[in-house]
Amino acid sequence: MNELAINGGRPIRKTYLSYGRQDIDEEDIESVVKVLKGDFLTTGPSVREFEKKVSDYVGAKHAVAVASGTAALHMACFAAGIKEGDEVIVSPITFAASANCVLYCGGTPVFADIDPKTYNIDPKEIEKKVTSKTKAIIPVDFTGQSVDIDEIRRIAGKNNLIIIEDSAHALGSEYKGKKVGTKAQMTEFSFHPVKPVTSGEGGMVVTDDDELYKKMILFRSHGITRDKDLITHNEGPWYYEQIDLGYNYRITDIQCALGASQMNKIDKFISRRRDIAKTYNEAFKDVAEITTPCEAEFSNSGWHLYVIKLNLEKLTCTRKEIFEALQAENIGVNVHYLPVYLHPYYQKLGYQKGLCKNAEELYERMITIPLFPKMTDEDVSDVIDGVKKVINYYKR
Ligand SMILES: *Cc1c(COP(=O)(O)O)cnc(C)c1O
Repeated sequence: MNELAINGGRPIRKTYLSYGRQDIDEEDIESVVKVLKGDFLTTGPSVREFEKKVSDYVGAKHAVAVASGTAALHMACFAAGIKEGDEVIVSPITFAASANCVLYCGGTPVFADIDPKTYNIDPKEIEKKVTSKTKAIIPVDFTGQSVDIDEIRRIAGKNNLIIIEDSAHALGSEYKGKKVGTKAQMTEFSFHPVKPVTSGEGGMVVTDDDELYKKMILFRSHGITRDKDLITHNEGPWYYEQIDLGYNYRITDIQCALGASQMNKIDKFISRRRDIAKTYNEAFKDVAEITTPCEAEFSNSGWHLYVIKLNLEKLTCTRKEIFEALQAENIGVNVHYLPVYLHPYYQKLGYQKGLCKNAEELYERMITIPLFPKMTDEDVSDVIDGVKKVINYYKR
């Protein structure tokens, strides 16, 4: 009866459970339909509404919404003035976009190793990587757990560096009891469907800095402005000027209507995610073959991802076999992430294996198990039963 599905046994679940997915209700659908029937599909009032909801929620002064989290990171790097010759310190355990945004601006990503306990960039490693060329730090709140932002701010202050916090996983997460989003000069969020709230595709940067805000507004729309204080002269009511090189990174009102409506439910989503994480922590605490995520005392994570680390010394197989066995049980597992510099593109740029030992060791052992607000209690117990079934089979 307990034969693994991969060996011909009956899977734990009849249907496949993905590792993450959106939660859309009738209210979300009505908001989007209202925009479709209205006057503005883009650059209308829903964009401001979504921006205001996010900036009010995290307690930041300004927000600029754009077409994706990646565009948001690019915009933040532009506003920070990253250019050729500049170095930017990045975490290796992240989605490629956290480092690509530096390359877009002609800068050089410098990878600093992670803390093997929290999996977040280690401030001590950041300090070792600072040179006279370092301009900024892009720490990532991996899985929703905030980085030690006060410590990173101390290092940034000492070396005159800008912090762009990649909080794509962390809208709704807390650091020392306050929402992530006000401690760095700029904080980026993503609204991809698996993220804490979604707009389909979308991203945002929040900031308290008026100058950075103005630069980002320009960058979002071709570097074009009608602002009397910015244009060289005025030829008439039709007149605008392009004063910098920007992009079309605008987000539609259709997307923002969805995002704004999703923001009404963020606390409910996060609370459900925290309950599921707690259930997993409890269920796996005595499974010696697994290390459950470790939360720092300053963090109250919103649990974008739940990553288990396999203690391979206690298992008869590699991560790959456990991964495939779980997939066969219909448990949608994933791996977040291959250290960015091990991607072939980065290898071609000259980054070498061995650069961040802790990141590479973690990568060999990590598996993301399903966690999203719409999961039922039955889904949660299926995941627990599936993981225990597979681990039990492969344990030494
Ligand atoms: C999702 C994600 C991004 C990019 O967001 P998109 O909206 O998909 O462009 C950036 N960084 C991290 C860590 C992410 O998970």
